[in-house]
Amino acid sequence: MAEDRPTQETRAGFVTLAGAPNAGKSTLLNQLVGAKVSIVSPKVQTTRARVIGIAIEGNAQIAFVDTPGIFMPKRRLEKAMVEAAWGGVSDGDFTVLLIDAQRGVSENVQRILDGLAEQKRPIWVVLNKIDLVKKENLLALAAQLGEMAQVEQIFMLSALKGDGVSDLLEALVAKMPVGPWLYPEDQISEMPNRLLAAEITREKLFMRLHQELPYALTVETEAWEEKKDGSVKISQVIYVTREGHKAIVLGKGGKNARIVGQMAREELSELLERPVHLFTFVKVREKWLDDPARYREMGLDFPKG
Ligand code: GDP
Ligand code: MG
Repeated sequence: MAEDRPTQETRAGFVTLAGAPNAGKSTLLNQLVGAKVSIVSPKVQTTRARVIGIAIEGNAQIAFVDTPGIFMPKRRLEKAMVEAAWGGVSDGDFTVLLIDAQRGVSENVQRILDGLAEQKRPIWVVLNKIDLVKKENLLALAAQLGEMAQVEQIFMLSALKGDGVSDLLEALVAKMPVGPWLYPEDQISEMPNRLLAAEITREKLFMRLHQELPYALTVETEAWEEKKDGSVKISQVIYVTREGHKAIVLGKGGKNARIVGQMAREELSELLERPVHLFTFVKVREKWLDDPARYREMGLDFPKG
């Protein structure tokens, strides 16, 4: 009889993925969610704002917060990114610290461990990229981290290959507070489509320009128009700070911009499951790094000073 059935207790919460730049946070987030919700690149500082990816495991809904890497910020944009990352740590219900097992406890990792120790909150450590390290090195690193008071548990996985990811997900269920789910069952991310679209174009710029990519570059979605035929028209502006950077982004005869636009359009139309018409414009705006509106568009607070 219905009233005899124990009610299925649901759980829901936020898990912050913290770590140094390049540890593999965005890769792990995408694996956990089972879809691409955060952009990944071999360059550091790809993730600028907080990206939330939502996974369901058993009775729990876990919202993972992918943060920009934590490092010693020098420039204003970097400050905003690091502030957003620490904001993620204090807002979440639980923090998982991701460490590139090949690099071990670097200066950046040590700084994060110190910061977490100050917050006096237990954390789990994930040693990532186990596909790249020898077992004995991995075990030595795990032993070193196991000594630390705030480290409750250590996981070893390969975010890239997916090995060990489901163990982490299953273990996290018990860490989530009991309560109703926070998002509709079919929602997998919390990032406005406009921002996601801008991030995808930025990722393609990374891929196309490699080392040439100007640091001071940002992409904004200016217009988003749903067409009657089911397609969507998206207009974006790529902001750079110098004419020379504009020339780099455009490439010879506009070739770079064309290829980037095409790659971004293809991925967007796959994600949105409908045809996409994408228009990108490159604009020089010398002072965009001092413009609070640009930070807001990225979902970042504008740091003073
Ligand atoms: P984030 O800066 O912490 O978000 O790191 P990303 O997720 O952007 O990954 C940085 C780089 O590390 C990318 O080139 C990834 O493909 C790579 N990477 C991430 N996880 C793994 C892993 O488990 N194994 C290997 N070999 N590479 C990985
Ligand atoms: Mg990232």
